[in-house]
Amino acid sequence: MSTFQAPKGTYDLIPPDSAAYLAVREAISAPLKRAGYGYIETPGFEAVELFSRGVGESTDIVSKEMYTLTTKGGTTLALRPEGTASVLRAALQNNLHKLGNLPVKLWYSGSYYRYERPQAGRYRHFSQVGAEAIGTEDPVLDAELIILAVDAYKALGLKNFRVLLNSLGDKECRPVYRAALQQFLAGLDLDEDTVRRAEINPLRVLDDKRDAVQKQLTGAPMLRDYLCEACKEYHEQVRELLTAAGVAYEDDPKLVRGLDYYTRTTFEFVHGGLGSQSAVGGGGRYDGLSEMIGGPALPSVGWALGVDRTVLALKAEGVELELPATTDVFAVPLGEEARRTLFGTVTELRRAGIATDFAFGGKGLKNAMKSANRADARFAIVAGERDLAEGVVQLKDMRSGEQTAVALDALVATLQEKLA
Ligand code: ATP
Ligand code: MG
Repeated sequence: MSTFQAPKGTYDLIPPDSAAYLAVREAISAPLKRAGYGYIETPGFEAVELFSRGVGESTDIVSKEMYTLTTKGGTTLALRPEGTASVLRAALQNNLHKLGNLPVKLWYSGSYYRYERPQAGRYRHFSQVGAEAIGTEDPVLDAELIILAVDAYKALGLKNFRVLLNSLGDKECRPVYRAALQQFLAGLDLDEDTVRRAEINPLRVLDDKRDAVQKQLTGAPMLRDYLCEACKEYHEQVRELLTAAGVAYEDDPKLVRGLDYYTRTTFEFVHGGLGSQSAVGGGGRYDGLSEMIGGPALPSVGWALGVDRTVLALKAEGVELELPATTDVFAVPLGEEARRTLFGTVTELRRAGIATDFAFGGKGLKNAMKSANRADARFAIVAGERDLAEGVVQLKDMRSGEQTAVALDALVATLQEKLA
């Protein structure tokens, strides 16, 4: 071990497990690409104010979990704790909303940073794939995003996940509800922190996981009883579209989520095999965010799915992903001359699209065959100087042990056929 360790709350993605992470990112992004979402990449850090204004001063993400730093030039920056504010900032800065059709549909994949209490499924550095559809208010768009996430989970082979759905209302109806909820909360026996939260962001109290709080919330006014006609109608359409697409969901009137910017449709994807960190992804509509960060009115909707927790969910369900073989063929040269010639063959095989590795370092036959086994190669090609002088290599099927001489100039075609 070296003197250094990965910082608390972080871990290294290493082979072979790292292959599952790549496969998850790929599986989540594939349905998005088919649905017209374009790839966007934004910096790993942004102005602190983007998040404090966008995500909200009263959220845990901003008030407790943000990594902030001051540059030598005196600018304060934050490592990005989430993706939506950055993507919207980038869309506005690059005038994407003026250049093409609305909605602007974007997807992203990357690392996010939150100073959290580390535990299983909760890290200080984690990875998300996200999608945002910017500039259009249309329940079909909300439904589209939920369907694309569900299709991604299904494509991965996940079964034990659920979709929770709620509406948070809009600037017409939410303030009325907020006041009613605040009045209700004022009559409860809450700790100091929660009393303060009830003043700043009362909806978040509904999300409190503690039993002592949850017990007192029985009988609390529910937002769904306060939704204005427009919000009710909108939400009903989202629900109908999901049902028509065969997506099962559960109405969760207490689902509020931790970010201030959400309006109307809010949803979360939860998995049963993850213990208390049950959310594998979440999102919703954020019609007011653009104006909060100085842009024009751009009603938008999006989600972010956690890659780390999706991998944990796959493990919990015992799903084996179909990963491409890392090594189809392992080449074993016998002798110095064979080493150079056979490496030429390795390059040729690789260029032909065959995953090929080599016994480096002048290993003896026995050790080299051990390496071929460890690499889980389907075939080994073994060649000494005499074979090569005759223009052949010995092709060994690692499963059957069968060995045949194959002409060098027929090797690519032979292997392509056998591996097909
Ligand atoms: P939680 O309620 O578990 O804290 P959240 O509401 O903070 O989740 P979001 O901001 O909605 O999470 O992020 C979307 C997804 O990103 C989550 O559903 C989860 O899968 C993942 N995620 C969020 N925070 C972490 C973290 N600290 N470690 C690993 N994954 C995370
Ligand atoms: Mg959180």
